[in-house]
Amino acid sequence: MKNNKNEPKYGSHKTRGQALRATQRTVDDAKKTLERFSSISVNKQDDHYEKGKLKITFLGGLYDVGEKNMSVIEYGDCAIVLDCGIDLSVELPSINYVINDFSYLETIKHKIKGYVITHGHLDHIGGLKHTVPKYPAPIYGSRYTIGVIQKTFDDEQHISGGYSPELVIADMENHDKLKVGEFFVEFIRVTHAIPDPSAVCIDTPVGRIIATGDFRLDPEPLDKRPVDKERFKQLGRDGVLLLMSDSSYADEEGRTPTEHTLEPSYSELITRAKERIFVAVFSSNINRTQMIINAAVASGRRVAFDGRSMLSYAEIALRQGILKIPKGAIVPMAQVNNLPVSKVLIMCTGGQGEPNAALQRMSEGTHKYIKLTSGDTVLISSSPIPGNEISYDEISNRLSAAGVNLFRHVTHKLDGCGPLHVSGHAKRDELREMITMVQPKYFIPVHGGALRRKYHADLAVKTGVVKNNIALPKNGEAIYFEQNTMSKSYPVRSGSLLIDQSGSIVETPIVQDRLVLSESGFLSIGLTIDNQSQKSVTNPSIDSRGYVSITTNNKLVADLQKGLVRAVDQRFGRVDGDRFQDEIKDYVSQFLFERTNQTPTIILDVHVVSKPKPNRDSKDTAVDNQQRFKELRKQLLTAAS
Ligand SMILES: [Zn+2]
Repeated sequence: MKNNKNEPKYGSHKTRGQALRATQRTVDDAKKTLERFSSISVNKQDDHYEKGKLKITFLGGLYDVGEKNMSVIEYGDCAIVLDCGIDLSVELPSINYVINDFSYLETIKHKIKGYVITHGHLDHIGGLKHTVPKYPAPIYGSRYTIGVIQKTFDDEQHISGGYSPELVIADMENHDKLKVGEFFVEFIRVTHAIPDPSAVCIDTPVGRIIATGDFRLDPEPLDKRPVDKERFKQLGRDGVLLLMSDSSYADEEGRTPTEHTLEPSYSELITRAKERIFVAVFSSNINRTQMIINAAVASGRRVAFDGRSMLSYAEIALRQGILKIPKGAIVPMAQVNNLPVSKVLIMCTGGQGEPNAALQRMSEGTHKYIKLTSGDTVLISSSPIPGNEISYDEISNRLSAAGVNLFRHVTHKLDGCGPLHVSGHAKRDELREMITMVQPKYFIPVHGGALRRKYHADLAVKTGVVKNNIALPKNGEAIYFEQNTMSKSYPVRSGSLLIDQSGSIVETPIVQDRLVLSESGFLSIGLTIDNQSQKSVTNPSIDSRGYVSITTNNKLVADLQKGLVRAVDQRFGRVDGDRFQDEIKDYVSQFLFERTNQTPTIILDVHVVSKPKPNRDSKDTAVDNQQRFKELRKQLLTAAS
């Protein structure tokens, strides 16, 4: 191979290896990030079913707090899906949330008789709009739960395709037993952080299952709808085969204080503030919304709701008589600036630092109606959800920088305010009480991740459950039950489907490409080569996004162009098209790695033109083609930027 004396020699084995390894590392990192979202096919026995046994398959909800909860309870030709949630904690480019892989449901679709939903939080209901239209069956739940589900189907028809689900409301007061296939399903009142949460009791031909859903045993909930302990005890006395119980706080001793304890904190802070008050709350926690409205009205303030979800949850609760708002207490956001500052309280979303939420826009100064001032008081009535710690701190910093009087639950002792948050999940004493009431033969701790589930399992042993009767399955695992036995089945295909802002499923390799591009950027190269002479017709065109600036790296670009012209001369026509492209990319990778120690993704466009024939009426063909290519590439780059 000839070598021009003035041109640096690229492509030693050493740098080639280094460049390849650098590229591979970026790809491997992206694969690793996506690993937990990939669907795992363990074997081809997804439809394995042993006659006469009860099969419970866990598709999601066992790994983290707030993970996409979903399990399938199956007997004979009958299956019910218990909860159908999404996971919003995912941070992948342009991915909004993830849902459970449908594959297992596909194998048993002829058996699905219903979706049984414990409560209206998105990690329990968010997947319904994707799943039910595909595998239709009625959806069962408490009144508020069904109200929220109905609203998601109404509001997100672009996802459900306008599908109108059959919705069945269960009466918890009358202990309705609803026949769903071969099962009888009863909803039992618990307390949590949303109206009408329920545990479910499923009577199967093999025995009774109780799934608590998310719960706590609040002794004096504001809505005066306490946990139906008598019913749990009665069902326990009649005999319970299996209890599946919420483990989210299995690592915390004692009991979660009643939601009621926040009432004096709100009253005091709202009375104390001289100017506008902003309270950031979880929009679905209607008990909390009620307490804040009560305190606002008592201090002569009017209340505005900011944020779509804030309005949605409040509207359903208002319609169902769960939320009570005195006449004239509400003011639209568009009118808050017409009121004296001492007469305004704004309830908003965004206390976790969620991007685009109302409080976020206020803190950034981009809110349509609100410009924060030093007279404003902001209450963040939550602790960070695991995973939100950084964004929780960021919003707090921005609010402080804006000069407002900030009160947060996490620093409530420092801030001089009472507690501003209690959890919606049971701590150890409550978990123990649930096991004692239900007296299950078998026990499976669910939700909250492996560690907390293990703590919960240990607690169950101390509370009287036989150690060998406790199972700690993983997502994708299935367990068979008979009246006196519990055994593992084959694991099934499980995992995640990635959903973008439009509600569409995005293939994992596309997200992998996005991760690689976001890490390394890309360099686009256009080559126009004459077919006869087998040489470059023009200087290669080069552009870059997210790698190096073309305008400030003239020498790098000029050297690369020069090198490319030589590389084309040496290779074109001597190897086939694919190999030619690979070799050129290889050459560019090594060149760039030696110069910049980085290897961007290389997008190569090779345009081969025939020798132009003189034509007085039209432009030179090669130049014409090259122009078209330039325009096309310009469009692509504009789209990418
Ligand atoms: Zn919940």
